[in-house]
Amino acid sequence: MTTAVTDSTIVQSSRLNSRIPDAPVPEMWDHCKNEMKLVSPGNRRKYDIIVVGTGLAGASAAASLAEQGYNVKAFCIQDSPRRAHSVAAQGGINAAKNYHNDGDSTYRLFYETVKGGDFRARESNVYRLASVSANIIDQCVAQGVPFAREYGGTLANRTFGGTQVSRTFYCRGQTGQQLLLGAYSVLMRQVQLGRVKMFPRREMLDLVTIDGRARGIITRNLLNGEFETHTANAVLLCTGGYGNVFYLSTNAKACNVTAAWRAYRRGAFFANPCYTQIHPTCIPVSGDHQSKLTLMSESLRNDGRVWVPKSQGDHRPPPDIPIDDRDYYLERRYPAFGNMVPRDVASRAAKERCDAGFGVGSSGKAVYLDFADAIKRDGLDAVKARYSNLFEMYERITDEDAYKVPMRIYPAVHYTMGGLWVDYQLESTIPGLFVLGEANFSDHGANRLGASALMQGLADGYFVAPYTVANYLGTHGSKMGKVAGSEAGFESVLGEAKGRVNRILGVHGKRTPNELHRELGMIMWDYCGMARNAAGLKTAIGKIRDLREEFWKNVLIPGAGESLNQTLEHAGRVADFLEFSELMVQDALNREESCGGHFREEHQTEDGETLRDDDNFRYAAAWEYKGDGAQPELHKEKLEFNYAHLAKRDYKS
Ligand SMILES: Cc1cc2nc3c(=O)[nH]c(=O)nc-3n(C[C@H](O)[C@H](O)[C@H](O)COP(=O)(O)OP(=O)(O)OC[C@H]3O[C@@H](n4cnc5c(N)ncnc54)[C@H](O)[C@@H]3O)c2cc1C
Repeated sequence: MTTAVTDSTIVQSSRLNSRIPDAPVPEMWDHCKNEMKLVSPGNRRKYDIIVVGTGLAGASAAASLAEQGYNVKAFCIQDSPRRAHSVAAQGGINAAKNYHNDGDSTYRLFYETVKGGDFRARESNVYRLASVSANIIDQCVAQGVPFAREYGGTLANRTFGGTQVSRTFYCRGQTGQQLLLGAYSVLMRQVQLGRVKMFPRREMLDLVTIDGRARGIITRNLLNGEFETHTANAVLLCTGGYGNVFYLSTNAKACNVTAAWRAYRRGAFFANPCYTQIHPTCIPVSGDHQSKLTLMSESLRNDGRVWVPKSQGDHRPPPDIPIDDRDYYLERRYPAFGNMVPRDVASRAAKERCDAGFGVGSSGKAVYLDFADAIKRDGLDAVKARYSNLFEMYERITDEDAYKVPMRIYPAVHYTMGGLWVDYQLESTIPGLFVLGEANFSDHGANRLGASALMQGLADGYFVAPYTVANYLGTHGSKMGKVAGSEAGFESVLGEAKGRVNRILGVHGKRTPNELHRELGMIMWDYCGMARNAAGLKTAIGKIRDLREEFWKNVLIPGAGESLNQTLEHAGRVADFLEFSELMVQDALNREESCGGHFREEHQTEDGETLRDDDNFRYAAAWEYKGDGAQPELHKEKLEFNYAHLAKRDYKS
């Protein structure tokens, strides 16, 4: 059903120029590329580019820019780019190749992504993403990424949530690892050629702007504690998502908001920070000892059926519960998509059943994901061939054999759709600061469809930034003066970064950063998690402020700053989470509607579905830092839908 929008109240901010090309949506990217400035091969070596982060977005961007001939300096926290969080991605990567001949097309991938994100993404960017998706697969195959293949040798595909076609390319349950090895190999080729200088074990602590442009970063060497300044003509942030603000999430432990948050404080607007993705199929929390949660890939919903007992308190072993006593609630509520509804829908439905008392397991906070029918239909070997490493992982953690008893799963924090605001060229509100991958506010609106994060990270790195960064340098490069890193602008930011670390070391309190982080996570989960309401969000703001005060009075850091000190590293990240979380809650409070992963209890339909308010909230919320203790300013980017018709999201029929 198409919805009517009067859009009387949304005023586009004059501070946000999205630079959407003046062309029909399908032609925008070609039009843009044709108009962009180039840098001649001989001049490229005159320019330095900093790439912070070497996950899929950063490694692909660094390698591509170096391949063009720029001098690239690449930074990461880990000892090797191979250990970026991207390595954890399991299920797959989308591309509109239509190998299954089942009705897929660029338009369909575009439309499903816009719809999946509840019409809160910029359609021009999403169309570009869908159209370059096919190139990504070709690029990765050429690098030797071992995608699963059919018997005849063609690449295999499976289905992911929110779609009715098979367009997800995969390498068993290790797609991220294999794609990262591909990107790593092209990155290392450039390291060998001398065009990329790799700085592992460095943490970016701040951004330096000179004459209003991003010209460098301040890093800390995590092995010896030394502070460093690095200069460049452009800076690319590819630092991933901030799901760990919730403490418990499926993200790698090092995922953080520090680089993005520091850039925000230097003038980059932060967009839609409240949009968090809660993934429906994670191994449930088992106790207070946990510091991390484990994802069971969405691909499992291709064959696993989700159910709970029809009666509350039915504790019979699952195989003993007859079919008539089971509630396959996703198939019942959403017959058109069944178990393959998008993540936000599946997560809320699981929470609804558990809150109503139908949950299983000792905590009652779990539902079954059952493979018995698939095993009966396709055979054990076929199911093993598709998912064996995921079943092994499940068994190692729970000591249960999911080939024999259903998995128990529950939603958990997984991905953040919010991030630094960028225009069509992926440039932030700070000229020369580009933001790629999960770190930008991305193409996923209020909810990301499965297998689309890898697609976006690699689209940004291999196919968008190489053009747009060149355009920036071609336009402004020759007018930029040289910077040496000793200018006053660098010195003062360096002093601030050192001061912050010393301040943390000087507290000498009694509580570990981990303890404080866990407490923050509980506040965020309880008040800004799967469901939010105004009263809870206001309570959260007070609690966050109190906890922030407690941190600066009572944090305990054993050891010193001049050597490897992971507690100190963690403390710096927690300090930034404690500032950032307030903005997140503020954004959730401002958005008086429900859309995608942002479910405001006050705004729901009679049957508990999200109730969007297109008239008043069809915008991306971009927040501007106005100083410590001051209210950040909200700027609105009005979202126009000229090619994807604005519609009510429906997965029932
Ligand atoms: C368990 C799991 C499974 C997933 N499965 C899928 C899937 O099947 N398909 C899909 O599409 N998506 C999946 N995702 C999402 C996807 O993996 C991520 O969104 C994506 O990999 C992010 O890539 P990135 O390059 O933006 O960031 P990351 O891979 O997180 O890389 C961030 C980089 O930034 C560096 N960094 C961070 N902060 C700093 C700093 N301050 N200074 C210096 N360096 C810094 C890190 O060292 C790292 O190199 C999954 C996510 C999880 C958690």
